[in-house]
Amino acid sequence: MKQRRKIPDSDWRDGFLFVGNHLALDFLNTRPIQNGEARELLSDFGALLRWFQAAGLLSTREMANLQLQGESVTARRALEAMRRFREKLRKEVLAWEGGAHVHRSTVEELNQLMAVHPMLSKLEATGNVPFMGPWFEPFLPEDLFAPLAHSAAKLFAEADRNRVRKCGQCVLHFYDTSKKGTRRWCSMQLCGNRLKVAAYAARQRLNANEG
Ligand SMILES: [Zn+2]
Repeated sequence: MKQRRKIPDSDWRDGFLFVGNHLALDFLNTRPIQNGEARELLSDFGALLRWFQAAGLLSTREMANLQLQGESVTARRALEAMRRFREKLRKEVLAWEGGAHVHRSTVEELNQLMAVHPMLSKLEATGNVPFMGPWFEPFLPEDLFAPLAHSAAKLFAEADRNRVRKCGQCVLHFYDTSKKGTRRWCSMQLCGNRLKVAAYAARQRLNANEG
């Protein structure tokens, strides 16, 4: 696994949304609502690989190796399993944000996934100071579960749930890392501006009626 690249400050990266501030939430956000309809961004195994690469989790070589398996039954099954995992995670995150305990079945599933597809560590010796980073070996399509299960488990175990929220306007989730902790929208670009424009129009109408 490659170290996460320095990421340009934009909501969309290679056709995917990275507004979550957390890998597990960015993964949830691969099924946004656009123009009133749910849009599946992980439309096939190739799209799944592009998401992993956009997230900085696959090197070009690892991606090429997995692409060769793209037409296989295992690749299709892995994609389906990951989409199912995502929708189960969505329900769990929504309930958890609302104060519910994480279901035992979810804990067990995450533990099982992490046992079969573990996230490893790697010492990187770039520069003067060695750096310890997460790493996994993506030989087979299902190995891609490693960072997904790991980040979902970390979300439940370590994130401040008061700062994990669904956007007030759409289905996207984010981890609020702002200083004040008052972030309400997935992004200014996607929902914030829309809301501001609507509020402005409403004020204008009010003014017109009063005048
Ligand atoms: Zn939104």
